[in-house]
Amino acid sequence: MEDDGLEKWKEAGSIASKARELGAGLVEEDVTYLEVVETVEAYILDQGAQVAFPTNIAVNDVAAHYTPRPGEKTRFRYGDLVKVDVGAHIDGYIGDTAKTVEVGSATYTQLIQASKKALESAIEVIRGGISLSTIGSIVERTMNSMGFKPIVNLTGHGIERFDLHAGISVPNYDDRGREFLPEGTVVAIEPFATTGVGEVRSYKRSNIYRMVRARGRLKEEQRLALETIQTGNPHLPFSERWLEERVPRVEKTLKGLVRAGSVYSYPILREVSGGMVSQWEHTLYITDKGCRILTY
Ligand code: MN
Ligand code: MN
Repeated sequence: MEDDGLEKWKEAGSIASKARELGAGLVEEDVTYLEVVETVEAYILDQGAQVAFPTNIAVNDVAAHYTPRPGEKTRFRYGDLVKVDVGAHIDGYIGDTAKTVEVGSATYTQLIQASKKALESAIEVIRGGISLSTIGSIVERTMNSMGFKPIVNLTGHGIERFDLHAGISVPNYDDRGREFLPEGTVVAIEPFATTGVGEVRSYKRSNIYRMVRARGRLKEEQRLALETIQTGNPHLPFSERWLEERVPRVEKTLKGLVRAGSVYSYPILREVSGGMVSQWEHTLYITDKGCRILTY
């Protein structure tokens, strides 16, 4: 890592953490998803960081990869179980963090605690050189002891500069793997607990996209869209909302780019059996003796 890299990482992590709390605090009955993500993303920019990926709002059996489209009117309802997952970066050093809240009711307190406790238990033992399956095993055991299952096909991940999912994947169960966590790296640990069978599958397309590469002959608005994406951070995910002001007919334009293979669209991920899902996530800097929580 560059000399000032860790300092920027700490700063980005701290902003992401405050943005997560801000966003989760706004989740209330009748508030729109859009209001929450717009407030979170404006806050990140106002703090002098960049938004690392569109703020994810995943409700009930949706585990991840949902952000509202421009003008979307969907509102939180009483009893919703809401994951707020935010990312901020400074100069490419990304803080990625999430928490779960329930709207009004207290039906899923234990389920929420399960992913939180799993993350805390993992953080207690994490250090350079620990095996990734040990981390997964701790996450799994913590959830099982509370009567829930981990989602086995969602993982934590290494983070490198301008690269949100780099290098290692950290399982949320004991996958019997033999990989180790290197000291000096940054990882996001993100346990997902569920009342269901413990697996997600791809549902329809979300409003979260990633640039692949320009292909074929482009229409004027497609060229403008790609140009806009590339003047931002071409390696990081983006949303339709971020192009709305500059690109005419943004939804149709993006559809065309997805069809042409220039842009990838992340699918919405739902629990296969319709189970409720909670998530908790921190970005950690791994040292020889433990870790520093960058998104505390
Ligand atoms: Mn995240
Ligand atoms: Mn993550």
